[in-house]
Amino acid sequence: MPRIGIIGGSGFYSLLEDARAVDIGTDYGKPSSEISVGSIGGTEVAFLARHGTRHTLPPHKVPYKANIEALARLGVERIISTNAVGSLNASYKPGDLALFDQFINATHGRDDTFFHGPKVVHVSLADPYCPEMRGIAMRHGMDHGTGTVMVVDGPRFSTRAESRRYASYADMINMTQYPEVALAREKEICYLGIGVVTDYDAGLEGGQGVKPVSYEEVKRRFAANNERLKSLISALVPKMPEGRSCPCPHALDGAEVRA
Ligand SMILES: [Zn+2]
Repeated sequence: MPRIGIIGGSGFYSLLEDARAVDIGTDYGKPSSEISVGSIGGTEVAFLARHGTRHTLPPHKVPYKANIEALARLGVERIISTNAVGSLNASYKPGDLALFDQFINATHGRDDTFFHGPKVVHVSLADPYCPEMRGIAMRHGMDHGTGTVMVVDGPRFSTRAESRRYASYADMINMTQYPEVALAREKEICYLGIGVVTDYDAGLEGGQGVKPVSYEEVKRRFAANNERLKSLISALVPKMPEGRSCPCPHALDGAEVRA
């Protein structure tokens, strides 16, 4: 049973040894792709391509609930999630790898809970990312151990004015962290978010000659960093302990409304 799930780009398929495809349906429809179950360094993992195996799902069409439900059903207790991010803070440079420790949701209308009643649950998201997994990841060559990520709907990129506004309260910008991380919490799954900085969004305030983001640039940067990201994940997976000493497995304790 895979205890660790990896959500990311299709380039990660090559990390898995003895991979087999698992076709799994959920009450919320099909996940983004077949799930590949295989091993990394002797640890069994489940891999899911967030945008589909051929990248046909834009960020607002990703079936986040089906993805998290499918991983939960396979027995996944920890998720390692990789994400392309734009930088809103000059110290987060293209090519850097950063751990998220907070997010701000600016998406609208995405289905972001498994509890639509009659069962009513209010989970805490004060610390949305697993502290135990972050602690382990910080010792494995991250450029930034913390960072707030602003999550927007996309698929378009920001205007310069939007980018300036987001930069006043976040370090990075992305289109897929929400509701993925919140749904994982509702399933009491530990979640680690890794950002790969690909660009400077609509440009940095006062940053002379910084060009606004283009998809070509995102694609080029992400590909350039893929090998580094793959070796980081290969190193991280076997380091994740079997037992969990973080608060994540108890996220629903006391969170349910009882009449
Ligand atoms: Zn945890």
